[in-house]
Amino acid sequence: MPSPKISGPSNATTILTVDLDALAANYRLLQQRAAPAQCAAVVKADGYGLGVGPVGRTLQAAGCTRFFVAHLDEAATLREALGGAASTGEIAVLNGLMPGQEKAFRDYNLMPTLNDLGQVAQWSEECRANGAHPSILHLDTGMCRLGLPPEEQQTLFDDPQRLDGLSLTCIMSHLACADTPDHPLNRQQQVDFAAAIKRLPKVDASLAASSGIFLGPDWHFDMVRPGVSLYGVAPTPGEPNPMAPVVKLSGKIIQIRHVDAPQTVGYGATHRFTGPTRVATVAAGYADGYLRSLSGRASASIGGITVPVVGRVSMDLITLDISNAPAAQPGDMIDLIGTSFDVDAAADAAGTIGYEILTSLGRRYQRHYVGGTA
Ligand SMILES: *Cc1c(COP(=O)(O)O)cnc(C)c1O
Repeated sequence: MPSPKISGPSNATTILTVDLDALAANYRLLQQRAAPAQCAAVVKADGYGLGVGPVGRTLQAAGCTRFFVAHLDEAATLREALGGAASTGEIAVLNGLMPGQEKAFRDYNLMPTLNDLGQVAQWSEECRANGAHPSILHLDTGMCRLGLPPEEQQTLFDDPQRLDGLSLTCIMSHLACADTPDHPLNRQQQVDFAAAIKRLPKVDASLAASSGIFLGPDWHFDMVRPGVSLYGVAPTPGEPNPMAPVVKLSGKIIQIRHVDAPQTVGYGATHRFTGPTRVATVAAGYADGYLRSLSGRASASIGGITVPVVGRVSMDLITLDISNAPAAQPGDMIDLIGTSFDVDAAADAAGTIGYEILTSLGRRYQRHYVGGTA
């Protein structure tokens, strides 16, 4: 990290720009797709790496009233960002209720997601002792990860009093294969979830995350819970992406080399120049979340010209062949992730998914928030 004294826009060699207006537009698009169902927002992992404060406030201004995070600490951070314990907006913690956390849920005005019968019993005891406080019930219909397994659901159908006094706002489940529309598990989970909620108290039901919204209205129930699509990632791989790009990563050229003789570049000498080449070195590397698996597979753009990343990505640096961009000079910014090489393209090139690209984006970048409610 540069010392705070010397860091400033003029010193920044890599800039991550987060377009909050695009985020708000994506929220509105998903809300329209899901209507008449409500659209919540998943902002776990620091708003998928983009900053839960600006992200949460922007989504709230766009009309979102229900938020999901993974950890209790993330929920407390979001609550502060939305204005403290007295602020409006439901915040639910997906990872559930651990012993001893009851008071924190109350103090920060947060909701636990009850993931098994033990958590159901724990929260109902808490509500009996200290008064009703809202919660969410999570049924597992095929993820085998979190949520009540089928046999615990059956226990609830047979003994519904276990839910008395819980103040459930929602019953939810999560799809395993929603990004593969033809997968038979999508319909199976939809049918099982619809059957289960019929046998439980009538509260809002929620099944779909980003990809599930695009499976169609049968999957929408009363509330949808998108995460990654809000941040611009394609909800259905292989289909045209309806979401607006939210992130742009640009890096400064800190040195340019002219290569005449055959020569290799970078660790492992994995790329050999065979003719005259201009090589730009840019200050971003895998320590910044520019994944090493992008080595020799990524491209970038400068002044509208596409240039390939050559050689290995190192910790702090990458090298690009800018021979076809003769105007490029040291000090110029190169678009590393943006419109021509977007988060999905980076994910494809790195052999991963957009989620991992976003949540890997490093802390070392200077962050610029544009538009919205930062
Ligand atoms: C992460 C998560 C979401 C959001 O998923 P996306 O695919 O990012 O839209 C929704 N629900 C649950 C339970 C999750 O864990």
